[in-house]
Amino acid sequence: MPGFFNTKIEFLKGVGPQKAALLNKELLIFTYGDLLQHYPFRYEDRTRFYDIREINASLPYVQLKGRIRSKELIGAGRKKRLVAHFHDDTGSIELIWFGGVNWIEKKIVPGVEYVVFGKPGTFNGKLYMAHPELEPASQFSLEGGYLQPVYSTTEKLKKKYLDSKAIGKIIQRLLNMAGPHIRESLPGSVMSEYKLMSKQEALPQIHIPEDQRKLQRATYRLKFEELFFVQLRLLMLKLARVDKFKGIKLQETELLTKFYNEHLPFELTDAQKRVIREIYQDMRSGRQMNRLLQGDVGSGKTIVAFICILIAAGSGTQAAMMAPTEILATQHYEGLKEYARLMGLNIALLTGSTKKSDRRVIHEMLRSGELHILVGTHALLEDVVQFERLGLAIVDEQHRFGVAQRSRLWQKNEDIYPHVLVMTATPIPRTLAMTLYGDLDVSVIDELPAGRKPIVTVHRFDSNRLKVNGFIKKQIEEGRQAYIVYPLIEESEKLDLKHLMDGYESVCRAFPDYQVSIVHGKMKPDAKDFEMQRFVKGETQIMVATTVIEVGVNVPNASVMVIENAERFGLAQLHQLRGRVGRGADQSYCILMTSFKLSKDGKTRIETMVRTNNGFEIADTDLRLRGPGDITGTQQSGVLDLLVADLATDGKILQLARQAAQALLENDPNLQLSENTNVRRQINQQKKTEVNWSRIS
Ligand code: ADP
Ligand code: MG
Repeated sequence: MPGFFNTKIEFLKGVGPQKAALLNKELLIFTYGDLLQHYPFRYEDRTRFYDIREINASLPYVQLKGRIRSKELIGAGRKKRLVAHFHDDTGSIELIWFGGVNWIEKKIVPGVEYVVFGKPGTFNGKLYMAHPELEPASQFSLEGGYLQPVYSTTEKLKKKYLDSKAIGKIIQRLLNMAGPHIRESLPGSVMSEYKLMSKQEALPQIHIPEDQRKLQRATYRLKFEELFFVQLRLLMLKLARVDKFKGIKLQETELLTKFYNEHLPFELTDAQKRVIREIYQDMRSGRQMNRLLQGDVGSGKTIVAFICILIAAGSGTQAAMMAPTEILATQHYEGLKEYARLMGLNIALLTGSTKKSDRRVIHEMLRSGELHILVGTHALLEDVVQFERLGLAIVDEQHRFGVAQRSRLWQKNEDIYPHVLVMTATPIPRTLAMTLYGDLDVSVIDELPAGRKPIVTVHRFDSNRLKVNGFIKKQIEEGRQAYIVYPLIEESEKLDLKHLMDGYESVCRAFPDYQVSIVHGKMKPDAKDFEMQRFVKGETQIMVATTVIEVGVNVPNASVMVIENAERFGLAQLHQLRGRVGRGADQSYCILMTSFKLSKDGKTRIETMVRTNNGFEIADTDLRLRGPGDITGTQQSGVLDLLVADLATDGKILQLARQAAQALLENDPNLQLSENTNVRRQINQQKKTEVNWSRIS
């Protein structure tokens, strides 16, 4: 009965059409299969009884055994509440109910021994438990396993009596029938090599675990399976592309040699050299390159990008570079322009605000092949933008482009896809890269140019402003410059600007002897440029700005980065901002200013920044704090909709799963061996049911 898991849940005893409709709507549970994959999000250990003296508000749900000394109804009408004074041999705690109080009041009997289960809290220093479960100790028994599953549910479902317990019961009923239908989806070789629990055992164990150890093994197995299939499909995609897609064979030495001999501004780091070698090998291979280039802020991605462009241009093809924002595109353009000029290559910038007449010229020069390099925003994707022959497309993603957009760039050549190099502005966590870009080859610049001194980062409270100002003065007296950055509050641009202007005024007052620049997003491009140039030339010593400078400037003489309201910034942004200093040989400083009021996450972010300069480590913390969806935006979230695995914590399993998938494909690239029948079946089934994947392939 292969269709068992596709059976609609309304046919399950105890569900019926009404509850089914609600489960469809509220939890997206449609079939038996969906229901079985509605895994518990935590488990309650009902084997342990706490002493009241042991508990405090930081504990999760706890179970107590004791007696109620007295009970009282307080207040009237809707404000009425029931308070019961509960004690054991070690102490006492208040049990409080705000709803259904009359009914509960009648039910509880002082002096009788009860088992109580709930989440402790404190109010005015007193311990309490709101709306605990209460059961006479004489009736208490452990239903099912020791670890009771807790399922996510919604208010609407609860109203129809589908709370966690009820959902658990339905699932248990389904499990009783499902046994014979559960088929192993992993190959035997993988099962034994990674010592995995069978699927037949894992599914019941994750819902109704016998003990901690079995629960852990079941969870591990299901996570492994989930990640294994994600990786398998990404790797199959990669294999298919290597087979199918020819690449333009780019072979070039003349321009490269000229650049290396005459214009290379500095010795490349070993990491830069290695990455360039990897890219060059792809570009000359005759297969289409699809590579992710990662490097920390300041690791020197620009020159690597330019050298790749040279390889393309030297072989008579054009290169395009696309960035998610106009500011970023402009910055890339500025970064490449000088190199291009030195090498006699034509380069242009195309964004939403490019003048119509300029646009026409660009389009024309592009079609004729006169224009060698085009940098820009989404504007590049428009159909009117046609290349004579596009050899290389560089995409600076900053997690913002989806796979679909990336592939539109490919279509720019009719006969053959251009080589594609994806770059990210700040590092992304390994696990995320393996999942989002798992179909790409990866190059990492894991080394900063020599002579860079690590930036010293400190956290200061607003109350220390005088001292901080004194420090900035000393730096300026030594000939350095400083940035002072204010946060953008997206809800209110007006407030934003006011905040910034207030800041600007107080900076001017605090530093009467120095010149201060100001730059923000609302300024006209000309004015912005003028102010930036004053700072770049050293005519002003302090730059007050919003985050527009995050990507906009490169002033090696600047040695201080002050970030106001630092708690309002995300980690990636803080790291990117800090990367604006430390570009010269001098010791640089980053000062994170906050008020005393800091959320837990805000505190973690600040501490992380103070502790490390390593962008990859910062990215990992960011992932832990925010979860993958938030980091990447919604565009790619389909790929990241994982049921059991967690990219923030399951990096190790992910690595093993990818390794297993890789080995499997090396041995059997088309999944034709009989031992891999179940794997092939699973892949085909997923293809049918998941729409998200179609975007990737
Ligand atoms: P990012 O990777 O953040 O884009 P950039 O390409 O902007 O970094 O490089 C940061 C700074 O380091 C630039 O001023 C650049 O000229 C300089 N740089 C890059 N590579 C080297 C190198 N190998 N040696 C010295 N300086 C370098
Ligand atoms: Mg850069």
